[in-house]
Amino acid sequence: MKYIDLHIHTTASDGTLSPAQCVEHALERGLAAIAICDHDTLLGCRDAERRGAELGLEVVPGVEISTKYGGSVHILGYYINTENPGLLSRLSEIVHDRDLRGEKMCRLMQGDGIDISYEQMKERFGEVVGRPHFAQVLMEQGVVSTVNEAFRNLISRGQKYYMPRYTINIEDSLELIAFAGGVPVLAHPFQYNKSDEELRELIEHCMEHGLRGIECIYSGYTSQMTEYLSALCREYALIPTGGSDFHGTLKPHIRMACAGGEGKGPIVPYTILEGLKAEKGM
Ligand code: AMP
Ligand code: ZN
Ligand code: FE
Ligand code: FE
Repeated sequence: MKYIDLHIHTTASDGTLSPAQCVEHALERGLAAIAICDHDTLLGCRDAERRGAELGLEVVPGVEISTKYGGSVHILGYYINTENPGLLSRLSEIVHDRDLRGEKMCRLMQGDGIDISYEQMKERFGEVVGRPHFAQVLMEQGVVSTVNEAFRNLISRGQKYYMPRYTINIEDSLELIAFAGGVPVLAHPFQYNKSDEELRELIEHCMEHGLRGIECIYSGYTSQMTEYLSALCREYALIPTGGSDFHGTLKPHIRMACAGGEGKGPIVPYTILEGLKAEKGM
């Protein structure tokens, strides 16, 4: 049986393995294919695809976009054209706004005597600087002792160093992905604290704007949760997908390939990718 992982973050956003290292790690984990789904950037896709071609691992170009629909909702896009000008320019606007937000967060921290500079963070972490990077720096500075503590006490909404950032609306993100030739998928649906009725409302709304799939297999999701989401896919004729949301050491509890509640071995079968490919006519 061949296994895959369709939700992986690299150093291009807030993962801690480079795109090439993600490919190498996937092969160590015995996977047949992975999808790179960095937040707001496509920069990791090309390196991963190149390394994948060298080593014989299938790499799917992807992206994860944070959007707003009531609260925050994440949309994944698979098989996007990584050269699409519309997608690239919209993503660079989002990244620019991340920079403005990050600079403000740094100033708040500097005001409390924390030795932090946004310029250095950009140099170190690359194009997409996110709150997990702030958590890491706060930990290194001895302000907190874990990444979780930073999120729990300092950088989540309503807290001392939190600054909101611009997020594109859900309709735009779905359409942007579709225009770039991608397959839009609703990421980790249990993250949004929605009732069955609310989740259906979200799915139906997204479908009006081109949603084609739901992430059914995900780290921490039990087989009952996966079955519930898979039943929604069958009902709405959507494609089930699955991935771990691997971030390397920034989310140490998540292992590549181990999407699912059991967390022991690979769990997303290759047939899931065949469903995505069929949607793309591949
Ligand atoms: P940003 O997009 O920069 O606002 O940061 C959001 C990122 O922070 C997402 O990848 C979340 O998964 C991550 N995140 C949110 N809460 C936590 C937490 N408690 N521990 C680690 N990462 C978190
Ligand atoms: Zn992330
Ligand atoms: Fe997400
Ligand atoms: Fe993610």
